[in-house]
Amino acid sequence: MKQLEEKILADGRVLSEAVLKVDSFLNHQIDPALMKAIGEEFASRFKAAGITKILTIESSGIAPAVMAGLSLGVPVVFARKRKSLTLTDGLYTAPVHSFTKNETNDISVSHDFLGEGDVVMIIDDFLANGQAALGLLDIVEQAGAECAGIGIVIEKGFQPGGKLLRDKGIRVETLANIKSMEPGHVEFYGEVPN
Ligand code: 5GP
Repeated sequence: MKQLEEKILADGRVLSEAVLKVDSFLNHQIDPALMKAIGEEFASRFKAAGITKILTIESSGIAPAVMAGLSLGVPVVFARKRKSLTLTDGLYTAPVHSFTKNETNDISVSHDFLGEGDVVMIIDDFLANGQAALGLLDIVEQAGAECAGIGIVIEKGFQPGGKLLRDKGIRVETLANIKSMEPGHVEFYGEVPN
């Protein structure tokens, strides 16, 4: 998605070879016009999939997920992150190792908001090693729902998550796929094969 790639080039900051900071439009301050365009792009890619619900993870997945939900006319559920879950009644839970924090937390979603018969699109801000996506897929499976695919705002294609998920036969739609980066320079792949 050209508009997103241009924004990353203009405002993204590469902190190391593995971490891109996009605090000015996605992870702290949010650019609503860009989020709207992102939501519409996800919606158009998944419009034939019969999506009934969007699932994301707090907090940075929420903005693009809400915009996609608005465009598709479906509710958005975000998995909550907790250090440790003592009361798990009525919750689907899955462990997720955080790429940025290097710690493992359980994520949870209430049984009330996901269930059999749902066709789910998963959305997240970044795809690195795929751990967040795998945790969300685990929750979709526990709910007896179907996953129609995963929408990622920024994939770091040089990290293994994208291949891991696509090798499992999961549809992964990425709006900006980074081939390589270093401080001061970001290079994108063209269209990602699915
Ligand atoms: P994964 O679970 O695929 O290893 O990592 C994805 C999660 O880690 C995303 O939910 C995102 O919050 C965070 N993340 C991974 N890489 C980056 C990055 O380069 N920059 C930022 N801001 N977050 C990242």
